[in-house]
Amino acid sequence: MTISAILGGTFNPPHLGHITPALEVADSLGINKLGLMPCKIAPHKPVDTSQEHRVNMVKACCKSDSRLYTELIELELPSPSYTVKTLKALKQRNKQTICFFIGADSLYTLHKWYAWETLLDYCHIIVMRRDNQQYSPPDHILPWLEAHTTKDVNTLHSADNGYVYLANSGLVTVSSTQIRTKIQCEDDTELHQWLSPPVLEYIRQHKLYKKK
Ligand code: ATP
Repeated sequence: MTISAILGGTFNPPHLGHITPALEVADSLGINKLGLMPCKIAPHKPVDTSQEHRVNMVKACCKSDSRLYTELIELELPSPSYTVKTLKALKQRNKQTICFFIGADSLYTLHKWYAWETLLDYCHIIVMRRDNQQYSPPDHILPWLEAHTTKDVNTLHSADNGYVYLANSGLVTVSSTQIRTKIQCEDDTELHQWLSPPVLEYIRQHKLYKKK
């Protein structure tokens, strides 16, 4: 089975903290494409940016590196959205081994995701470091983690699903929240360091995140 890498996110906006470590890890796993998969946001969640802008920013981001592509499957599926449902649909559609990338912060709250214990029925989970600390998952996911973690990249290629891989990725500690706050405060410093040029251009063109 061929293997693909997918990074799901709100991408409000997509930034180099998403892209740089994920591409580095994908390379180290021998995967040469990385799909950025914007998630659907529940109507009650306080996200000001429209789905259209988030998708356009992801598309803009994908222009910055030929290894990136936009994966819109979650937005095409009926609501409510759950990652596990999305991964099942993606696996059925593509018949590929999916390496689903998440940041360490997402691993630490994974047990709150809908049917989280069945995620590995459809993918491998690849965890990227998000801060300088050692991985420190909460106690109640430790048995699950112990049962499923592999340190062997070959296992990710030989098994269709079922493994967690804790990547020793480089750190880019920025978050979308930090970027939105900077722009709201009219502080342009560091935006070039954190955003790819097509995304920064899109944000400026549409005056996103400015105070109303
Ligand atoms: P926000 O600040 O709005 O919560 P975010 O920067 O955390 O957003 P998301 O789009 O919510 O970005 O993240 C999508 C995925 O990328 C998550 O699994 C998250 O853990 C991971 N991620 C985001 N930023 C980083 C980063 N700097 N390093 C590693 N992983 C990251």
